[in-house]
Order: sequence, then structure tokens, then C-alpha cells
Amino acid sequence: MIVVVGVMRFFFLLFVMLISATHLFAADFSFHQQQGTRQGSTLLVIGGIDGDEPGGFHAAATLVTHYQVQRGNLWIVPNLNFESILKRQRGNMNLKFASISKHDHQYQQVQQIKKIITQPQVDLILNLHDGSGFYHPERINSQRNPNRWGQSCVIDQSRIENVRFGNLEHLAEIIIQQINSKTSTQGQNFLLKNMHTATDRKAIAAKKSLSYFAVRNQKPCLSVEASKTHSVSLRTYYHLLALEATMQQMGIHFTRDFQLTPQGVKQIIKDDAVLALVGGRVQLELNNMRTTIKNFPLPETGTPKFTANNPLITLLPADNRYRIHYGNNRLAFINPHFVDLDRSIDSVKMVIDGMLQSVSFGSIVPVKKNFLVKEQQGYRVNVVGFSKPGHPNDGHLPISHAQLKQSYSIDKAGQLYRVEIYRNERFSGMILVDFRQKSVRKEPLIARIHPINLESDQQYN
Ligand SMILES: [Zn+2]
Repeated sequence: MIVVVGVMRFFFLLFVMLISATHLFAADFSFHQQQGTRQGSTLLVIGGIDGDEPGGFHAAATLVTHYQVQRGNLWIVPNLNFESILKRQRGNMNLKFASISKHDHQYQQVQQIKKIITQPQVDLILNLHDGSGFYHPERINSQRNPNRWGQSCVIDQSRIENVRFGNLEHLAEIIIQQINSKTSTQGQNFLLKNMHTATDRKAIAAKKSLSYFAVRNQKPCLSVEASKTHSVSLRTYYHLLALEATMQQMGIHFTRDFQLTPQGVKQIIKDDAVLALVGGRVQLELNNMRTTIKNFPLPETGTPKFTANNPLITLLPADNRYRIHYGNNRLAFINPHFVDLDRSIDSVKMVIDGMLQSVSFGSIVPVKKNFLVKEQQGYRVNVVGFSKPGHPNDGHLPISHAQLKQSYSIDKAGQLYRVEIYRNERFSGMILVDFRQKSVRKEPLIARIHPINLESDQQYN
């Protein structure tokens, strides 16, 4: 019987980011728009204005990968200061919204986000941050006082007159109440922090911020600050509670494909860690990867094109090799072995634990006992980590986990191995054999991305 292993093959989305070395220091953010089938309000969500606040940008990215809007619209910029995210630095983009020099290397990004914020369709903006300690209006101790930011919903002023959702204080209070109704741990409750940016002479930094730019342009904006005391996934969870409460208040209907619990959020951040290369002929799972993947077949055409559902995943040149990044996480180096491509086949037949299957390139196939790649005239099979003297071709041999050299695996645990197919010296595709015995991965949702094409070239002040 032939079973098509199609579930594991992803439908890669349109989000392809090409970042050349020269481009690195002005890495562009991505802009995703979800439009419901029913009309409604538009929420703009911004993550990653500060590059070292991963709770906020993982939450925004999760909206792209695991949420679907039915009514209303969700606009998402998950990685606004992508350059700083990749460098694992805060950056100072949030001080550039009152004035910015045309020579500033982030000038283009700041102008673009200003254009998005001021689009007539945008009803409300949610700006996601991770803040230190715990905000409290009175000083309790060094971690819990008025100068801390964590677990707060921040507004610049109580209200913007004559604007929908302009009652910022009221809206923030409802959102805070909803977050706190899901929080059982004492001392984790969110509180309202009103900066009184326009009238407080001490609010110098706040006057230069994105949120105050929005407010000055009659756009309601709330900032959410999850505490840096928490793990990244727990911060992401709090941000998602705030996002869902906000969408509810705006009448935006949505579905998600996971359980909104701290554990559920931790799992989807892991599930999203997938990168595809060579037009989907190669797919890598990025969890628990080795520091360096050697001798990796890649076409020699500048920086390799890649696709990833999650907009925080990217591949950057690093000397004569490439490095995979996922948000603030710097993952494996890939040492390329440059090859020409063969496109004559898209799959091979394999016997996996005794069952004959047709396996597409780019698949990650679970194996319990052993696997065998069927020999095909003119093609050579290279199972990386397996060698049998006198056998230049690893096809047609049953191979078990014990026969593979652990140091050649993709993952640190020695359970994920490369099977590469060549036609003469041309590379046809790769399959990963997975001895981890875990359940089959669910297919991720396809995210949508639209190019930024906003007409007005107006300047803001
Ligand atoms: Zn911040």
C-alpha cells in the first residue's frame, strides 16, 4: 500500500524575506493583514519596537500564525525593530517618533509605520512591550513601584475626544479586568498606568514615543507591558489575553487553533520553529538544533531564499556560512555545500517500519524501528551519518537508529537525520527521518502578507 505523506508537507506562505548583508542593518519589518469575511473594526498590533522584549513580538507573531479573523480586521507588524530583535538589543526606535533625521538608518521604517498608524481604517493600536518588574502606583519595594512597567496597561491620556475607542482609560480598565479574571497568582495582576504625556513635564521619553505619535494623530493607542520577570512564553500568554480582550471590545471575531494556556502558548512557539529552503525541497525543524550543521546542500545563488510561517524566523549570512535566527534566539550555523539543483522528481518511495510510502521532499518522517529508501535508476541516496564500506549509495538498505552516527544528526539529541537524494552531482531534495516518537505535527495555518503600498508621502510631526 502506498500512503502519501502529505500532512507533513507544509503549504508555504507568501512571506519570503530576503536579507542581504548590506540590508542587515535596516532589516525591514513585515506587515500582515487579516480581513474577516464580515466587515468590522480594524486593530493594528505592533510587536518588537524594542528588540529585547520577546513576549510582545512572539504574541504578535502568534496572531499571524495561529489566528484567523472572521469579522473585522487585524493588521499586524510583529517585528517593527527587526534589526534590534536580531541583535538582541533594545534599540531606541521608540524615541524617534517626535522627530527623526532623514539620515537616521531607521528613517524608512519609522516613516512606514507612521503611514500605517495614520491610515483612516485603523481604529485602535495595541503596542506590545515587556517591562521590568511590576508597576504599582505606590512604592512597595524595588521591584514593585511607580517606575516599573511590568504587568501594566499604559495610556498617554484618559481620552481622545470624538474618536471611536477614544475613551482609553475605560477601555484599558475593561481589558485589565479581563486579563486579571484569568490570573490566579497573587501579585500578577495588571494595573493601569496613565503617563499624562501631554501635561507631565517629566514625561520626556513618552513624548517621543510611538503611542504618543498615534494619540497626537487622533489614533487611540494602548501599550501592554508583560513583566520581564516571567518566562517568554508566559509573557506571550499575557499579551494574548490582552489582545483577545481588546478584539472582544472592538467586536472583532476570531478563531485560534490552540488552547490559550501558558502551556499551550509554550507549545505553539515550539511548533512554529520550522524553516524551508530550496523551494520546499528542504525543511528544517529548529528546536534543539546543533550549533553547526555541516556540509549542507544549498544552491549557489547569493543568500538562500527561505520560507517560514513565523515572521520572526530568518536566515542571515555570517562569513562564509549562514545563521538561523528565531526572534532573539540565534540558532544553528549552516555550512553550505554548494550544489546545482535537479528538479526531475519531487518525492521518493520509502519503506518506513515495514510500510511502503511515497515521501515528498521537505517531509519530516517519524520512524520507530527502521527505514529504507527504494533505489531508483540514476539517483543516489545519501543518509548523513550512515556509512557502509563498499556502498556509495545508501539506497535499498534498511537503516535503524543504532546504525546512525549521532554527531551527524540535525538535533542535539541525535534523533533527527538527513536523507539526501542526488541525481549525479545535482541535489534533488532532502527528507528528515525523525526517531523522536512524537505525535505528527499539525499543519500550520497559512498566513497572509501584503506589500506595503501606501500612497501618501506626507510628513508627520
Ligand atoms: Zn518596550
